Amino acid sequence: MANAAYAYLSDQILGPAKPIVCSLDLHAHVTDLMVGQATAFVAYHTHPHVDFYDTGHRAMKLLARTLRGEVRPVMAHRKLRMIAPPEQHNTARPPMAPIMERVLAAEKEPGMLAAAIFPVQPQLDVPNLGWSVVTVADGNPALARARADEIGNLAWGHRREFLLDRTPVRDALRIARATKGGPIVLADSSDGTAGGAEGDSTVLLQALLESPVPGPCLLLITDPDAVTQCVAAGVGAEVSLVVGGKLTLAFFRPTYEPFAKAIIELDAPGPTDSNLGRLPYTRVSRPLFPLDDI
Ligand SMILES: [Zn+2]
Repeated sequence: MANAAYAYLSDQILGPAKPIVCSLDLHAHVTDLMVGQATAFVAYHTHPHVDFYDTGHRAMKLLARTLRGEVRPVMAHRKLRMIAPPEQHNTARPPMAPIMERVLAAEKEPGMLAAAIFPVQPQLDVPNLGWSVVTVADGNPALARARADEIGNLAWGHRREFLLDRTPVRDALRIARATKGGPIVLADSSDGTAGGAEGDSTVLLQALLESPVPGPCLLLITDPDAVTQCVAAGVGAEVSLVVGGKLTLAFFRPTYEPFAKAIIELDAPGPTDSNLGRLPYTRVSRPLFPLDDI
């Protein structure tokens, strides 16, 4: 919405005759209001995002060409009633890679100025949440519309491949017990602080207390109050505490992969749940895949 406000204010300040080219993160929640207020959108081609400079460069080049009267950008926007877990937005591997290849091919096509796909930040709870395809053609609305629909249909056709196969906590503990040797890493992405979670989920802790595993077990706990109480109690003292647990997902693989016997990604509830059907959305427009099986 910040982008919509920006486009609106720029339009009010600059006047409708001045071109506005926006460079966007591919997690942007694109709205018709934004598309209506701007001249063209240019977006990242990569997730994880590494093309900040290139995206800015492409946007400025397009703006300069527009100001010089060399091109006349026209945009088409196709909204898809789908969202997908952020882990699956990686543009370097399937199912996202072949869709991004099609976007890049469209951008290079004669008569086309830009093409973008926005898999959106799926944990937003806003009306009309969903993927967007935005295409920009040179004075040819039919071409922009055709490419937006084509790329949109391609993404929609792949929507089921974006669902993640996670292991329920109890099954993960069973697998851990049955695995000879160790260590075993249990990754709880639903409590990922890198994604905005508070890091206080006790789902795994509770499961371990109910169904202990043999041998030593390390569970990372982030709880300053508990630490303060422990320090106050002193070395060797026993205290009863209420604690929360977290395992940060973002960098766990490079850290643990070299020595872990197994890494099991948990299907556990939490604020950054990849099981999107379990999040308490109230404002998104329905039907929306995968909340609804459409
Ligand atoms: Zn992003």
